[in-house]
Amino acid sequence: MNNVYYGKLVFELSKPGRKGYSLPANEFAAYALDALPVARRERKTLLPEVDELTVARHYTNMSNNNFGVDTGFYPLGSCTMKYNPKVNEEMAALPGFNVHPATPDCCAQGALKLYDEVQRTLAEISGLSRFTLNPYAGAHGELTGLMVIGTYHRQRGDVNRKKIIVPDSAHGTNPASAAVAGFQIVQVKSTAQGTVDVEDLKPLLGPDVAGMMMTNPNTLGLFETQIPEIARLVHECGGLMYYDGANLNPMLGVCRPGDMGFDVMHINLHKTFSTPHGGGGPGSGPVGVRAGLEHCLPNPQVVYNEEKGRFEQRFDDESLGCVSGFLGNFGIIVRAYAYLLSLGRENVPMAGRLSVLNANYIKERLRTHYKLPIDVVCKHEFVFDGLREEYGGDHHAADHVTTLDVAKRLLDYGYHAPTIYFPLLFHEALMIEPTETESKDTLDAFIDVMIRIAEEAKADPQMVKSAPHNTPIRRLDDVKAVKEPKFTFKAL
Ligand SMILES: *Cc1c(COP(=O)(O)O)cnc(C)c1O
Repeated sequence: MNNVYYGKLVFELSKPGRKGYSLPANEFAAYALDALPVARRERKTLLPEVDELTVARHYTNMSNNNFGVDTGFYPLGSCTMKYNPKVNEEMAALPGFNVHPATPDCCAQGALKLYDEVQRTLAEISGLSRFTLNPYAGAHGELTGLMVIGTYHRQRGDVNRKKIIVPDSAHGTNPASAAVAGFQIVQVKSTAQGTVDVEDLKPLLGPDVAGMMMTNPNTLGLFETQIPEIARLVHECGGLMYYDGANLNPMLGVCRPGDMGFDVMHINLHKTFSTPHGGGGPGSGPVGVRAGLEHCLPNPQVVYNEEKGRFEQRFDDESLGCVSGFLGNFGIIVRAYAYLLSLGRENVPMAGRLSVLNANYIKERLRTHYKLPIDVVCKHEFVFDGLREEYGGDHHAADHVTTLDVAKRLLDYGYHAPTIYFPLLFHEALMIEPTETESKDTLDAFIDVMIRIAEEAKADPQMVKSAPHNTPIRRLDDVKAVKEPKFTFKAL
């Protein structure tokens, strides 16, 4: 790209004395800071000196370097980067929903009605009894759900249950949340087919087990077929079943965690229910519980009856207390509501089914070029283990083309990279989740590029290994970035 502004810091565009403003002469006397010497600057500020046009071009070029689902296809697995209809944004921006969080319930009836309807719709979708929308993210929902499990055992005087069982394929937040909630983590293995190994689970169960966390579909995109048996075993030993429903997309309207025997779950509204996300937020991780656990949910709760909503709190020693200031990220809840209403009851299952169809379509068309370690029908996402041997994926070859190389080369073709080296079960994991919102044309174009990269890897491995070639910044040394981080710009 032959553009002097491209890929530069605004400091690099600075020229001494250049200005982007012209102000009238100062009509006030200069005020000397003699009375307050500590407030005086010791050296000149290092602000960039640039004209207005340079500023306009700088920021416009920077915004063009952004990649998002509004600019192109985003096959990032485990994230559900689906298109978020703009009407949801408009609804969330309606002035009536701009309610101060401390507004008393009498003055927030519209917001409380919406809140209650989202709580009840999520309960219906998941087959559970009641939801709280207070948690701010998926991991925060996990923490809340695990605290619900702890509260349940404590209220029953069953205080020796310290262990939470987590599969080795779990999202990293699962063991992290369990540790933060004060539990010990016990890992259960996966079988060669990628689902929880029931035989490995059995000896782990006992009177010290508080519960078990499962992700379904798991992080390999596979439906955990042994759930009824696992739920029976965990319940038999007195534990509760936790469902990580961060990526509920393929389940929507098709099957329900409550019917599978789960007691507690969270859902990521910012994945499944259409809120733009990435870069850390904003999020919303509602937590649902089965009948009989409602009293373990955190404060405050929104209760709606006789056409009136109100806040409810429990103050006894046994209650979980609060997990958030106020009632969560309300703007996200409005987006989820708008999304649910615009799909409608009849179309929610279509979203789930199309996400599964799209993932399987890509998987089947690319398996000729990429290694497919687990060959079954996937749900909304699947994992390759790098390129096939004949396309440069042979580990023993000197110019072996890795998953990282493929991901970097994709950038040259204008695609966001898929998730790579996660989950940790395969050496060269490359995880793709197309979501339901992409057309067949988009999927075909992506597939063609992936095949082209495989062929390039065979014909000219060094070219793929040195990608990207067309981005403002070429391949970064990510180890150096971690070991010698530079957070400030030094004047040239
Ligand atoms: C994204 C995700 C989480 C964590 O959600 P955050 O909102 O990022 O905290 C947990 N589990 C699974 C399976 C996920 O995909």
